[in-house]
Amino acid sequence: MTAPVLQLHAATRVHGEGAREVVALRDANLTLLPGEFVAVMGSSGSGKSTLLHLAGGLDQPTAGSVTVEGTDLASLNATRLALLRRRSIGYVFQDFNLLPSLTAMENVTFPLELDGQPAHRARKAALALLRETGLADIADRRPDELSGGQAQRVAIARALIGARRLILADEPTGALDSATGAAVLELLRDRADRGAAVLMVTHEARFAAWADRTIFLRDGRIIDETGPSDPSSLLAETADTAR
Ligand code: ADP
Ligand code: MG
Repeated sequence: MTAPVLQLHAATRVHGEGAREVVALRDANLTLLPGEFVAVMGSSGSGKSTLLHLAGGLDQPTAGSVTVEGTDLASLNATRLALLRRRSIGYVFQDFNLLPSLTAMENVTFPLELDGQPAHRARKAALALLRETGLADIADRRPDELSGGQAQRVAIARALIGARRLILADEPTGALDSATGAAVLELLRDRADRGAAVLMVTHEARFAAWADRTIFLRDGRIIDETGPSDPSSLLAETADTAR
């Protein structure tokens, strides 16, 4: 049997307490095998980002567990968690999170350099990814010299560099026109086809259609799951596309 890349067991995340308690995610069970591309849909506030934060070890469940490549994230100290995140998890944030003082190239090589890889090897890998994302020409620009779409593609290249087996993307197409959006989806699909597990939040059914299946969240609960062919029956749930 193939070992899962990501497993959530009854993962719950509660913020605050008493009258101020907010259950951002409730009892989520989810398994991603190598090669699986799963889309996450749901209206604003339904828990999509919380799900990704937990899967990426950026936040901890208040109950239940999150396992990445067989390791329960709660069993790791901060140093080991940082190492696992750097080596195993690529994260594309909703707001890019590029380092403003670094060039596009340096932003992409950053995770490998942190990991102690030789600079020439990191540059070679980054250049290949910048080419794949159509950005080879802007490798030397800093984030404030990039359009929103370019910055997003740099963020995606940074998430894909190295041998990461879990790719988490929070609305990676949010800032992109539809042609560029499709190019991004193609990159993520290709990663999954080469054995990574990909979990992507999206508001758009046409992007979810690239995934093997789609899970739907409402009020912190996974309410349904479907293959790529017909998410339309559930689209009423996600018609509120405001963030
Ligand atoms: P989505 O990404 O689907 O819009 P989120 O996962 O960001 O939703 O949020 C889910 C719910 O949890 C929302 O009601 C949100 O307000 C709440 N929430 C998220 N983070 C926090 C926090 N740090 N403190 C309190 N409530 C939070
Ligand atoms: Mg969100």
